Amino acid sequence: MTNELRGGYDLHTHSLHSDGTTSPAEIAAEAAAIGLEGFALTDHDTVAGWNEAREAAAAAGIDFLPGIEITTKHRGFSRHLLGYGIDPRSEELLAALGEVRVSRLERAREMVRRVARDYAITWDDVVREGDARTVGRPHIADALVAAGYFPDRSAAFQEILHPGSPYYLGTYAIDTPEAIRLVRAAGGAAVLAHPAASRQKAPVQDRELSELARAGLLGVELDHPEHREEWLPPIIAAAAEHGLIATGSSDYHGAGKPNLLGERRTAPETVERLRSGLFTRS
Ligand code: AMP
Ligand code: ZN
Ligand code: FE
Ligand code: FE
Repeated sequence: MTNELRGGYDLHTHSLHSDGTTSPAEIAAEAAAIGLEGFALTDHDTVAGWNEAREAAAAAGIDFLPGIEITTKHRGFSRHLLGYGIDPRSEELLAALGEVRVSRLERAREMVRRVARDYAITWDDVVREGDARTVGRPHIADALVAAGYFPDRSAAFQEILHPGSPYYLGTYAIDTPEAIRLVRAAGGAAVLAHPAASRQKAPVQDRELSELARAGLLGVELDHPEHREEWLPPIIAAAAEHGLIATGSSDYHGAGKPNLLGERRTAPETVERLRSGLFTRS
C-alpha cells in the first residue's frame, strides 16, 4: 500500500465492459499519462476488456495485470472479490461468471420494470450502449440521468437505487469462499475488495478475514477511496495477522464515480508478491 502519488500500480479499474465510462485503451493511455507503472482492469464479472487493455498498455509502455471483480456474498453480506491473473479459459470459472451475468440481466430488467412505474425510462434506455456489458444499477442510473431525473449516478443511487429502496432487487452472487476456490483453481490470486467501504453497514470483521484467509484469500484492498477510516485499524491488524497482502487502488469508473485513476496505488514490490502467488497456490 502506498500513498505516494508517483509510479506504482492502480489495481482496481472499470471500463465500458462493465460500468466504467471509458474503454480499456483509454484507461491504459490515462494510466501512462499520470505516471502509473501499471494497472489492472477489474470489470465486474467479465474478462472481455483484457485483450484491448493488454495491447494498449504495451503500446503505452506500462505494465498490465489482468483482473476481475466478482460479485460474491458471504453469510448474507455482499462482498466483492478481486481475482488477478486467472486463466480466462477456465471453464468452471467462466460458467460461474455466466450465471452471475444472466442473473444480473434478469435482476436489472425487473428493477427497470419497478422504476418505470414512476420514472419514464425503458429497458432500451438502459442498454442503449448494447447489452454485452455486465449490467447493473449504474446503467439504470445513467438512463435516469439521461432522462433528466438526476444530475449524476451518485444522486440516482442515493435517491432510488440503494438497497433500502422499493425499486431495489438483489442479484445472484457466488459464495465468497467458493469464488476464492474458483479463482485459485483458475491459477489466480484472490484479493478482498474494499473491506471498509462506507456503503456497508459494518466493516469486514477479523473472524471473516480469518475464514477467507483459510479458504485461500491472498490479499485485501486496505487502501480504497470509499473506506471509512475509523473502521480500518482492526482490519489492518487482522490482515497482518493472517499474512494477507495489502493493496491500494482507486476503483476508477471513468465519469461514473468521483474516484480518480491512480488516487490510491499499490507498490511494485506488492504487485510482485501478488504475481508470485499466481499459479503456485493449489
Ligand atoms: P450492482 O452491482 O449492479 O448492484 O451495482 C453496484 C455498482 O454500483 C458498483 O460498481 C458500485 O461501484 C456502483 N455504485 C454504488 N454506489 C454508487 C454511487 N453512489 N454512485 C455511483 N456508483 C455507485
Ligand atoms: Zn462498478
Ligand atoms: Fe466493488
Ligand atoms: Fe469496483
